[in-house]
Amino acid sequence: MATVPTISLNDGTEIPQLGFGVWQVPADEAERVVSKALEVGYRHIDTAAIYGNEEGVGRAIANSGIPRDELYITTKLWVADFGRAEAKRAMETSLAKLGLDYVNLYLTHWPAPATTRYLDAWLGLEDLADAGLARSIGVSNHLPEHLDRVVAQGERVPAVNQIEVHPALQQRNITEANARHGIATQAWTPLGRGGTFEDAPVADAAEAHGVSPAQVIIRWHLQRGRILFPKSVTDSRIASNFDVFGFELTTDELTAIDGLDRGERTGGDPATFNPE
Ligand code: NAD
Repeated sequence: MATVPTISLNDGTEIPQLGFGVWQVPADEAERVVSKALEVGYRHIDTAAIYGNEEGVGRAIANSGIPRDELYITTKLWVADFGRAEAKRAMETSLAKLGLDYVNLYLTHWPAPATTRYLDAWLGLEDLADAGLARSIGVSNHLPEHLDRVVAQGERVPAVNQIEVHPALQQRNITEANARHGIATQAWTPLGRGGTFEDAPVADAAEAHGVSPAQVIIRWHLQRGRILFPKSVTDSRIASNFDVFGFELTTDELTAIDGLDRGERTGGDPATFNPE
């Protein structure tokens, strides 16, 4: 089974660079697909309270027999629970659903910048890290100005910022701000809904290496140092998205894929997205 490289976070912990995401995996399918992912070799699972599938993820973990210290589990605090006391209650609910007594990583899900509650939420996450319920804490969808406020407000610097990154949306202003703060970048929707699968830099590299466009893009993220967790409910794709350690993209191939950035967002714009 492949050994997934790890990335060192700013709090001294290590995170497996390639994981498995479960956004839009229906609650009644989560146990099956996460069990499949664990069987294939993934040890890092990315879920969230709002995905509504933490219980299925928890059942898959429990049934896997894999020792807890070999797993890396992330979940996220939803905006409705932003607040210091609320964060604690929400974490306890997530842990109960997951059947765990700690998560490896807990994130504030969106800044929702119409209010400054994301700053209160960050203080709540700091309490949870102090209490040992989250080994690491971080943020998601934070723009550079949100990061600056979080860093000024709290005592800890977020370990990660999970943002939308794929070849057609590379958000270099955010990844550079992350790097300045020592924050690792996690790429969500890493495959970009297939929007660049047929672009020459991806298609040509796929042909040259005898792999799929998805495998090329996963490799591009890995070689560019980002953490990612592609999602699939199809067994063959769950397996092939993990089978990316037998080839390497050349510098020219990486640079050509870097050139596909065209600001093409698939999800919300954190500057204006204010979910409740
Ligand atoms: P993704 O880039 O992982 O793509 C998933 C979709 O791509 C699948 O539904 C499938 O249709 C297709 N796909 C998967 N493997 C394929 C393959 N080998 N060949 C062809 N098509 C393939 O997108 P995602 O699920 O949106 O993002 C991954 C994870 O990121 C999520 O599951 C979630 O954990 C996280 N995420 C976080 C946020 C956030 O706000 N923090 C937002 C979105 C996603």
